[in-house]
Amino acid sequence: MSENLSNKIAAGEVIESLMNVVKELVENSIDAKATTIKVELKEAGLKSIRVTDDGIGMDHDDALKCFYRHATSKLYNDDDLFNIKTLGFRGEAIPSIASVSKMTIKTSDGTSGTEIVNSGGNIISVDDSDLRVGTIITVEDIFYNTPARLKYLKSSYTELANITNYLNKMALSNPNIKFILKNDDKEILNTFGNGNLLKVINCIYGLEVTKKMAYIKTSNNDYDVDGYISYPEINRSSKNFITILVNGRSVRSNEINRSILDAYHTYLFHDRYPIVILNIKADPSIIDVNIHPSKMEVKFSKINDLKDLIFNEISRALKKLVLIPEVKYTPNPISNIDSVSTIDDKKDFISDVVKPSFEEISFDFDVAEEQNVYNEEPEEKKEKFKKITPLALIHGTYIIGENEEGMYIIDQHAANERINYEYYKKELGKSKREVVDLLVPLKLEFSKDEYIILKERFSELDKLNIGYEEFGMNTIIVRSHPSFIKKDYALESLRKIIEIIISNNDFSLEKFNEKIAITLACKMSIKANQHITIDDMTALLERLRKTDNPFTCPHGRPTIITYSIYELQKMFKRVE
Ligand code: ZN
Ligand code: ZN
Repeated sequence: MSENLSNKIAAGEVIESLMNVVKELVENSIDAKATTIKVELKEAGLKSIRVTDDGIGMDHDDALKCFYRHATSKLYNDDDLFNIKTLGFRGEAIPSIASVSKMTIKTSDGTSGTEIVNSGGNIISVDDSDLRVGTIITVEDIFYNTPARLKYLKSSYTELANITNYLNKMALSNPNIKFILKNDDKEILNTFGNGNLLKVINCIYGLEVTKKMAYIKTSNNDYDVDGYISYPEINRSSKNFITILVNGRSVRSNEINRSILDAYHTYLFHDRYPIVILNIKADPSIIDVNIHPSKMEVKFSKINDLKDLIFNEISRALKKLVLIPEVKYTPNPISNIDSVSTIDDKKDFISDVVKPSFEEISFDFDVAEEQNVYNEEPEEKKEKFKKITPLALIHGTYIIGENEEGMYIIDQHAANERINYEYYKKELGKSKREVVDLLVPLKLEFSKDEYIILKERFSELDKLNIGYEEFGMNTIIVRSHPSFIKKDYALESLRKIIEIIISNNDFSLEKFNEKIAITLACKMSIKANQHITIDDMTALLERLRKTDNPFTCPHGRPTIITYSIYELQKMFKRVE
């Protein structure tokens, strides 16, 4: 098999997309210790991809060797952060890309300058060039000699989004490298390269997001974790905005994603995701990296400790960040509704590509960082908002209230649900619970298939302090249950709990308790269209005020919104 043919085959395996080409070139630049990496695309890279770096460059011989497989020995460095050989397939990447494109390498190490033109895997010319230190690789008409080209012609928008996403992650993982991305002369990314992660976040996500990112930091014996997490009101429709770095490299980890999302669980609607950049540092010996050309997956030892560490830290941070959404006056009354939710779905991608230019940013980062660091305060039991006096109930659903700061609208069901949820969470977390003995036992009958599963999981009933006996076919009788189950709702609640036991295949106690707490909370809460008295409202608001997170129900819906006095005055034109 000819060298060129095997290169083409390798290209098919390694170069799955234009993003992969960019990735190979950019990672070569990083290996060459570049401090500035400029990526210029024409037609999302399909016409041309040019990567310019100010790295150490290559001498004449090394430049030629690039075009031969397994020859690029400088890519295998031992001081790699993962303590493993660098991406092994990368030695093959340049010849593979060259075999399916027209590639020009212009490079200099300061003593010699070389320019090599290669077309479809054949070297066309080798010339001397100037001595600007660094490397410029230009890839034109990629895939011109393969059927794959057609596929990319159709999806240049997706390709550009993928390339942008990749470079965003590289910029986040390397705040000390300046990254520039342009497509058809339009600038998409331009970072400072001064080592300040928050500035990178600003370059990528813009000022509005940056202002609502909170710094977190925690550690245990094995792991150091720090980074930025978005306030819940800043959220997106995809998980793409969660960046996990391990020892400085962007990796994928579904498990870490899970603990982040679990921490945000009751703060976000489902299908909404936070923006998170997490830096995990650990001894390379406790991390196992599985490398595939298009992704990096990581296995951690003591993963559960790491997950707890991340979950607890983010949960703790969120408790301090969440506030009442304020209704802001805008001249068009219809759009008032929108202003409650801060993020416009449609802007997800666009706003990340079209950002304010540098001049427009008047944001003092030193101050901002100070604000974003939330300090290790003692866990004081502070109320999250000032006492609200209820005035009326409208449509049997919304409580109207006031205090000196403004007017409030509270969803009575959502508020009650939050109170109950926290109560059940606490009760379920106890190892010993108060038990109520029933004078008249309750009988619960199940279908055969349900009962088979339930029998296997009877121990779950014991753990919950539910006293039961088997009673004939597919039936149990319950003689006692924990006191957190209200008497009038006992049968219904027990049935719900057992349904969760039967349908639950994920036996994490945390999640199991979570499900039960949410279900019971909803069941036990005042419904809409239930007319409660002012006294009930007062009690409800007081209890809400003392919850850990009064602002959302366990499903992530808001419990309360506010119109500040100032906004009211603006609406009625009492102030400008
Ligand atoms: Zn509900
Ligand atoms: Zn709810």
